[in-house]
Amino acid sequence: MRLNSIRLEHKKNTASSQSVPVPVPKTVRISMQQCAGAACEVMVQKGDKVFVGQKIGDSDKYISVPVHSSVSGTVTGISELLQVSGKVCKCVDIQTDGEQTVVEGIKPPVVSDRESFCNAVRESGCCGLGGAGFPTHVKFGFDDNKFSVDTLVINAAECEPYLTADHREMLENTESIFEGIANIKKYLGIQNVYIGIENNKPDAIKVMSRMAAQTDSTIKVVPLRSVYPQGAEKVIVYNLTGRIVKEGKIPADVGVIVINVSTCGFIGDYMKTGMPLVKKRITVSGEMVGKPCNVIAPIGIGFEELLRFAGCDLEKLGKAITGGPMMGIDIFDLTDPVCKTHSAILALPKEVKESKNIMISRKTQTNCIRCGRCIQACPVGLMPTELEKAFDKKDRQTLKKLRVSLCMNCGSCSYVCPAKRDLAEKNQLAKALLRT
Ligand code: SF4
Ligand code: SF4
Repeated sequence: MRLNSIRLEHKKNTASSQSVPVPVPKTVRISMQQCAGAACEVMVQKGDKVFVGQKIGDSDKYISVPVHSSVSGTVTGISELLQVSGKVCKCVDIQTDGEQTVVEGIKPPVVSDRESFCNAVRESGCCGLGGAGFPTHVKFGFDDNKFSVDTLVINAAECEPYLTADHREMLENTESIFEGIANIKKYLGIQNVYIGIENNKPDAIKVMSRMAAQTDSTIKVVPLRSVYPQGAEKVIVYNLTGRIVKEGKIPADVGVIVINVSTCGFIGDYMKTGMPLVKKRITVSGEMVGKPCNVIAPIGIGFEELLRFAGCDLEKLGKAITGGPMMGIDIFDLTDPVCKTHSAILALPKEVKESKNIMISRKTQTNCIRCGRCIQACPVGLMPTELEKAFDKKDRQTLKKLRVSLCMNCGSCSYVCPAKRDLAEKNQLAKALLRT
C-alpha cells in the first residue's frame, strides 16, 4: 500500500552550496528554551565571563537538555523572549570578545554502556535538529520492559522545499554520521539501520551508500520518492519498514527509533570531541535572498544577521519564516535568535505576507465544493473537510471519531484545496480544543 502524498516544487537552489561559517557576531542571545521539553534555569549572571561550550543553563527535569554558550565573551544581561507558543522564556545575552576561547575541560565523553551513553547525549545538549527538538536522550532511554526496539531509522528525506541543510550534512559530514550510527547501534543494541533519502539528492545517496558499504554493510541506504511529506515520522517509518505507527502511539511501539540525519552527525562529532551543541547548519534562502546559502551559525545569532549575510534587503522583505514553507513558523521579530531547532530561514516577497502557508498563493477562501482532494492528499487517511465542519461546530465527539489527533499538520490538505480552506490550521485548533 502506498500512502497519499503530493508533489511540490523543490526550490532546492542551495543544494550545491558548500556550508560557510558566519563571522562571530558582536552579540548573541541564547534562549533557555531550546528543545521540546522543560525550559532551563539560567546558570550565569550579568558580568560573568563565558566560553565556548560552557554550560549556561540546565533543568532538573528529565525531558529537557542543557544549554551551552556558543561564543566567548561577557554576559550583559538576562532578557525575556516571547515564543510562538505564547510563553515567555529567559535568554542569556552575551557580548562576544571575538576570541572564541573554548571552556576548559572539553574532551570526548567516557561511555561504557547505554546509561552512560544516554547521560553523555543529554549533557551534549542534543535534541532533534530536524525541527521537532525532542530531547535525544529520552528517545534513547526507552523502557526495555515496554518497548522492543530493533530498528533505527535515519530521517534524511528533507522533503520540504528550499531546505538543503541535511543534504549538505550528508555530503560534508558523512564520516560523523556513520560514527553516530555506530555508537547508537552499539549502546542501544540495535540491529537494523535504514537511511531514507529522497531521490532528488542522488549525490547524497551515492556518498552515503559508498560509506555504508565501507563501514557496515548492515546499514541500508534507501532512496525514497521525492514527494511530500516523505519525512514525516509516521510516513518514513512505514515507507522504510512497513510498520504502522497507530493513533496515540510512537515509533518505539513498533520497535523503531527515528533520528534526523544531522542529529546523528552531531552525535558522531560529540563522541569524538566532547564539544556540546553550540552551532548548527542552516539554509538561508527564499526569493528575497540575494545569495542563497548554507551557513554554520552559532546558536543565539539574530535572524536578521543571517539574512543580511545572505544578501537580503530587509527593507523589501515581505515575510520571513523559520523552517520550510509547508510547516515553517512566521518570524515576527527579526532580532530574535536562532535556536537548535531551526534548520532554515526563508525570506519571501510581500505577495506571500498574509498567506499562512506560503505555498498557497491565493489567500481568499471560498466554499467547499466537495471535490475530495484534501482526502486524497492526506497521508494518514483523514477527512480534512469533515474535520473542518466538526471543528466549526465545536463537536468534540465527531473530532475524536474522525481521529483528528492523527493529524501531523503537514499542510497537504490546505495546499491542494481549490477553495483555499485553512484545513490544516483548523486541525491544529481542533487538537487544542480536545486538549482543553
Ligand atoms: S494537515 Fe493533517 S489532515 Fe491535512 S493532510 Fe496533513 S495530516 Fe492530513
Ligand atoms: S479540497 Fe477543499 S473544496 Fe475539496 S473537499 Fe476538501 S475542503 Fe472541500
